[in-house]
Amino acid sequence: MEEYVSLKDRDPAICLSHDLDNLRPTPQMHLKQLVTQRRALLNRDPNEFFESLETLLEFNNDVAGRKGCSTVFIASKTKSSSRFTRAKQWLLDPTYEAQDPALGAFIELIRETGSTVGIHGSFYSLRERTLAAERMALERRIGSKIVCGRQHWLHLPSKMSMEHIHNSGLKVDSTLGWNGNVGFRCGFSKPFPLTLPNNQVLWEVPLLLMDGPLFDDMRLDTEGVVKRSQQLLKEVKKRGGCVSIDWHERAACPDYNWFEAYRRIVTWAKEQGFRFLSIAEAVQEYQ
Ligand SMILES: [Zn+2]
Repeated sequence: MEEYVSLKDRDPAICLSHDLDNLRPTPQMHLKQLVTQRRALLNRDPNEFFESLETLLEFNNDVAGRKGCSTVFIASKTKSSSRFTRAKQWLLDPTYEAQDPALGAFIELIRETGSTVGIHGSFYSLRERTLAAERMALERRIGSKIVCGRQHWLHLPSKMSMEHIHNSGLKVDSTLGWNGNVGFRCGFSKPFPLTLPNNQVLWEVPLLLMDGPLFDDMRLDTEGVVKRSQQLLKEVKKRGGCVSIDWHERAACPDYNWFEAYRRIVTWAKEQGFRFLSIAEAVQEYQ
């Protein structure tokens, strides 16, 4: 007989995740940086995002004391047939496709660090029903099956969004967090099943914290980000819960300076008894 473990007795866990929005600095990002931070840094090193993600993934493995605790959501966007939508895609979506040669080094890094790949569904992928095609294109590129997803911008355009995600061949989602804020979007601090029509199930790993909202929208400094994150993670710990956190690929670039807060939050979490699981591992354990 399987031993029953009460949630309260379970050591809490964090899924360290990273959305790979861009492979290198882009004009769209300079534009966004100009709007959100009122500054733009041109002439940047084209390799700095790779080096930043390398820093994040190696740090994760060091803290966890093992390989394979990270999940990286890779985009594989498809172009809309509408010219108007394509213009919006240029501004909103990740700037690379699954076939981009520069993605090869990132895939190799993900393999070397034992990290799991999820699909980062493009902004219009649910409205235009292209998420299944995006998943399959990425599976061909990486040569293995993908079961987890997170939508870019956490964009869920309709009440049918979760059903569309499930029908695109995914078993696990980690989109339910706030874009522009942080906290428990569904009130859950552990993976939970979303029951869909026809009794189908999509597992959700709640997204608690994300770098952009903390620094850009809430305008917190490093100290503020660490404090707010610790407050929320203490609630997760009390309940023996498990949530994902998302720091983007560029977070450890010198001019973003989002890594210091991440380093402090994750190191503190380890001291507090948090374990580090990939999103797929978390669902296996909590279901
Ligand atoms: Zn994204």
